[in-house]
Amino acid sequence: MTTEIHVREYRRKRNFEKTPEPSGDDEGAAKQGEGPRFVVQKHDASSLHYDLRLAIGDVLVSWAVPKGPSTDPSDKRLAVRTEDHPLGYLEFEGVIPVDEYGGGTVLVWDTGPYRNLKEDDGVSMDEALDDGHLTVWLEGEKLRGGYALTRTKMGGDPKNWLLVKMDDDEADARRNPTSTEPKSVLSGRTIEEIAAEEGPDRRERERQEAS
Ligand code: MN
Repeated sequence: MTTEIHVREYRRKRNFEKTPEPSGDDEGAAKQGEGPRFVVQKHDASSLHYDLRLAIGDVLVSWAVPKGPSTDPSDKRLAVRTEDHPLGYLEFEGVIPVDEYGGGTVLVWDTGPYRNLKEDDGVSMDEALDDGHLTVWLEGEKLRGGYALTRTKMGGDPKNWLLVKMDDDEADARRNPTSTEPKSVLSGRTIEEIAAEEGPDRRERERQEAS
C-alpha cells in the first residue's frame, strides 16, 4: 500500500490551506534511514491530551492518550487509536487554527528511536498491530525502556487500547514526567510559548508585514 492510501483519512479531515500540519506530500524529507522513530506530542486541543505515534512502514500509527504516558508499571493509560499520520508529523510543532480539525497547540514532548521487542520472536510491527499487542523499547529523552500497547475493545470499541510501562530498569513509579518535564524536546518551549509565538497573532503580523 502507498502512503497516499494510508493517510487518506488524515488528509480528508484537514484543509492544508488553513492548517500548518504536513500534508504528507513530501515524505522524502522524513528520515527513516536510522531505523523507526516514535513521537509523543502534547496537544492542547478542546481537551488536553498526548498523542503517541510509532513509525510503522511509511506512516505514523497513532493513539490519543488522554492522561499521557506513565513511567509507573502499575498505571494503565487509555490510548485511543486515531488515524495514521504522515511521517512528516514526527517533527510537527505549532498551532492548528481553532476551527480546524484538532484545533490547538502541538508540542513535541518526546521523540527518539524505538525497537520492536517482538522482532526476536519473528513478529513484525504490522503483525503485532493486527494481533492487537505491541511491545516496543523507546529511546527518548523522557521515555525509555519497554512499553506495551494492548487492544482491549473496552466498551465494545476496537479503538480502545491500553498503554502500560513494562517493568524493567527504566521503570520508575516516582517520576511523573508529564508534569515535571513539560517542555518541547525540539525547541525547549512550553505550550504557552508555542501558542504565543505561532498562534493567530503571529500569522496576522506576517500578513501585515507581507502586504
Ligand atoms: Mn491529538
